[in-house]
Formats: sequence, C-alpha cells, structure tokens
Amino acid sequence: MHTVKLDGKDIAAGKIVCIGRNYVEHIRELGNKIPDQPVIFMKPPSAIVASGGSIVIPPHSNDCHHEVELAVLIGKPAKDIGAEQALDHVSGYAVALDLTLRDVQSVQKEKGLPWEIAKAFDTSCPLSAFVPAAQVEDPQNLSITLTVNGEVRQDGNTKEMMRSVAELIAAASSYFTLEAGDILLTGTPSGVARILSGDRLVAAIEQVGILEVSVA
Ligand code: MG
Repeated sequence: MHTVKLDGKDIAAGKIVCIGRNYVEHIRELGNKIPDQPVIFMKPPSAIVASGGSIVIPPHSNDCHHEVELAVLIGKPAKDIGAEQALDHVSGYAVALDLTLRDVQSVQKEKGLPWEIAKAFDTSCPLSAFVPAAQVEDPQNLSITLTVNGEVRQDGNTKEMMRSVAELIAAASSYFTLEAGDILLTGTPSGVARILSGDRLVAAIEQVGILEVSVA
C-alpha cells in the first residue's frame, strides 16, 4: 500500500488524476492547442515518492521533464458534483511533480496513443506532505515555484490556471468517482525542462509546503 501524509497521519493513496494543459503559457511553450475539455490522464499510487526521496529516470528515456503542480487530496467521494460543492470534497493540498518522459510522450502524441508509459513510471510523482485544506485561504492565488540546483526554472501562480481546482474536480467527477485518498494534479505553469542525474529539485507552493527530491 502506498500512503501519503495529511497533517501527520498516514492516508492510503488512491488513483492520481492528472490534468494536462491547464496553464496557457505552458500550452504555448509546448506548441499545444488550448483544449475545449480538460485533458485527463492518470498515474498509479506506485508512482509516488515522498519528499527527500530520489527520482529514477527509466532507461528507455533520455528526456525527463519536471512539471511542478498543486496536488489536491480528495477527502470524501465525489461523483457528478458541481463546481460549487467541489471544494467540500477536498481534505488537503500538497506540492507535486508530474515527471514526464517528454521523448516517449512525443512519440505517443504523434501516434495518438495514451500517455501512461511517459507519465506513470515509478517515482514519476514526487509528493510533499498534505496540509489540511482549511490552512489554505484560496487555492487559486498561490505562488508556485521550482528550482533545480538553486536556479529558478518555474515561477507561476495558481491564479493562472484556466480551470480552477473546483472546476477540475467537477469535470473529473463527471467521468468517474473520485474516492477518499485520490489525488488530483492540477497542471503546470511554464518553464518545464529536462532533469539530469545528480540534479536537486526544490518545489514550493505558498501556504502549502516544500518538496525536495534529487535525481538518481
Ligand atoms: Mg503535468
């Protein structure tokens, strides 16, 4: 069983629902189109690595990118809910990385195939501890940054999301039930780039926390 920490307690982690293309500047930097519907894919709980751990880039990739993202922990089941009620289903927030094998993903995109082999590998989801949702005043106004070896690579704010956390939960819940312990990753601001063996990554979100990992 894979667990995450919420306010010092262990919680069994469920599925990790990830949103792609939710910040305009990041869509532009990769030359993608603005989607009419949220772009949704998943990572399994086996992708999680806690803060302080190591990222292991699989041997079939030569271009692993960092994507810093606000992570949302679901606290009670949500199915077909509206955005107005969605935040009632959130128990916590954390700092996450959606690590992506960009070379593998590019081939999958060209062929129109699913992204999981580029997105769901072991250690592809570094995750800080979750803070209780009540400690975060407004999830749509938080600075979000990532440094690699001390150099700022990503520097954004969650207010730049095209779809809010509440809208994303509502949309995801129209496709499948979100259960307690499920985690939602809400997309990345611009500045994604390659990471290399030996790199040290520090991701931070205001009021939420800090995530520190290194690349094996
Ligand atoms: Mg992402």
